[in-house]
Amino acid sequence: MRREKPAVAHIEADEFKQWMDAMADALLVCDDVEHILYLNRAAELLLGWPREELQGQSFSVLVPPRFQAWKEGSLLRHLLGKRLASAGRSTLVPLRHRTGAELALEAVVSHTGKEPPERVILTLRHLPEVPDATAEPLELGLAPYPWQHAHQGLAHAPTLAERLYQLIVENAPLGLFHFGNPPFLIACNDQFAGLLGTTRQQLLGLNLLTLRDMRVVDCIRVTLQGQHTRYEGNYVSTTTGKCTPLRAHFAPFRDEQGRVVGGVGIVEDITTQRRMEQERDTQLALASTLLRTAPVGMAFYDTRLRFVHINDVLASVTGQPPEAYIGHTLPEMLGPPGIQLEQFLRHVMETGQPLERLEVNSREMGLLGTWEYSTISMYPVRAPDGRILGLGSVVEDTTGAKRAEQERLRLLREAQEAVRVRDDFLTIASHELKTPLTPLSLRLATLERKLERGEPLDASSLQQARGHLVRLTTLINDLLDSSRIESGGLALHPQPTRLDVLIEHVIRVTESFREAGNRIAFHVPVRPIEVMGDPYRLEQVIANLLENALKYSPDGGTIHVSLEARGEVVLMTVSDPGIGIPSDQQKHLFERHFRARNVSTHSYGGLGLGLYICRDIVARHGGSIWVESEVGRGSTFYVALPTLQASRALTGPTPEPQMH
Ligand code: ADP
Repeated sequence: MRREKPAVAHIEADEFKQWMDAMADALLVCDDVEHILYLNRAAELLLGWPREELQGQSFSVLVPPRFQAWKEGSLLRHLLGKRLASAGRSTLVPLRHRTGAELALEAVVSHTGKEPPERVILTLRHLPEVPDATAEPLELGLAPYPWQHAHQGLAHAPTLAERLYQLIVENAPLGLFHFGNPPFLIACNDQFAGLLGTTRQQLLGLNLLTLRDMRVVDCIRVTLQGQHTRYEGNYVSTTTGKCTPLRAHFAPFRDEQGRVVGGVGIVEDITTQRRMEQERDTQLALASTLLRTAPVGMAFYDTRLRFVHINDVLASVTGQPPEAYIGHTLPEMLGPPGIQLEQFLRHVMETGQPLERLEVNSREMGLLGTWEYSTISMYPVRAPDGRILGLGSVVEDTTGAKRAEQERLRLLREAQEAVRVRDDFLTIASHELKTPLTPLSLRLATLERKLERGEPLDASSLQQARGHLVRLTTLINDLLDSSRIESGGLALHPQPTRLDVLIEHVIRVTESFREAGNRIAFHVPVRPIEVMGDPYRLEQVIANLLENALKYSPDGGTIHVSLEARGEVVLMTVSDPGIGIPSDQQKHLFERHFRARNVSTHSYGGLGLGLYICRDIVARHGGSIWVESEVGRGSTFYVALPTLQASRALTGPTPEPQMH
């Protein structure tokens, strides 16, 4: 439901006057030529003038004689101008009571605008707190302080001390002001007015409690309660809107009886200081971020070599937080190794010369911590005048780099060794391959000659020729097998195999090619011994061990071969009374191309591949091979393989026999 807006009631002039008379504050209205047009009941009481008498009179009748010519204008105009500058805040005004006494009044001046009819309106309030305001008119309000502009009625010519005081106040690089109680501004210097973005004339008489900045108002209140106080903040001028970072100190001002009769303020523009502080904070934040996040360790020491700063990276090396270091010396933090490091610092301190990239092995120095290797640089930190303020040090963890370098050297050595082994191998291999070729071609030439002459061919020559051919084939097979093993491709074709039979066969073949020398004794097992294996490869293992036993037993003697089943394992041994193997070499025996030290001193042919191939074959059968040996007394090679039953239990049904 829409409600009708009530019609604005026409206010009768009489009713309006009744309203004015009902007001608690005194009200005075003047026209543009400063004639009093109207005053309300409260004004009548305050000024002691009956309305009928004062209305129509010039405002100047209310102005005390000494303010009649106020700054070459009228007091009313001055107050009006000031009102515009102080944004309608109250000010202290001296007015004359009908009896002639001066009243200190708090006034708010306003006007209806410059367009006619212009009316100036004053709202007045008596200041009962001002002691003897009537007895000593205005002395407390617009008091003639030495630095205040001289005006009519100045009590006396300034003394020398007062002039000096004025000089100091006027030239101080700070804003200075004085206020009474209540806090009307009594006096201030130009610097203060400048800081607030206005003029001194506009400020004088202003009631400081009407300032917009409540923190300033609180400071004024506290000062009037007799305490010193401080203000720091961005003061925004109401009139200009200018924002100035200010710092102010307020102090109460007491009379001889100790009563607080006002206060003083000292105001400082801290714009530059703030900017410098901000710049410094930015610089510090930047520096501390750099310090903290730098991937290197950093520390600063004072001239007594105590930690002033240390970044997290360096502090963490010992597992202690950075705070634990501050104020302590290196020996205090690191123990004896710290003494040594401190000597370097002292050297830099004494000579003023930096020490660059000192390589430190923490373990050797006895330093605990996560960095094994590091480089330390130490340098003096100087003030602009060259004085040494302290020392800085930069510590870099070089553990990774050092290890990489060591690894690189190791790899280089290994590569060089591999090249050497390869070169040796090529020399040996070509020699080894040629060794059976020469007698073979000799034998074949003899046989050829005999055939030409029609002489009978002897079986032993043919056998020996075949022996050389077998040797050659074995060498070539070893080379091929070795490269197959390297590429993971040595295939097995397992089948149930009588190992005792295989050994007997290998011994027979070996003996058939062998010239007189050693004897081979096979301790035949009582029961047949079967394994799941590749007969071709197992024969290779047995032949190799047997050939080695013969080859490395140059002084003759018996080679003992044994075979037995122990539980789930079949154990074959080949023992010889030969040259033996140095104990420190035994663990390398099954490595590719390895040849024991003692074989190179005698000229035993070989490529160092046989045992390497044996180990691979045995391992692929699920077995193991090892040696027991003593230099000069002979060697025993052991081959352990799973029995047929054990292999079956592991792998299930027997695979079909395969052909090679
Ligand atoms: P090769 O005999 O061709 O050098 P092997 O791999 O068969 O290669 O043997 C490797 C090395 O092991 C031999 O060079 C030798 O030093 C040592 N060795 C092997 N068998 C015996 C053995 N029965 N007595 C002494 N040393 C042996």
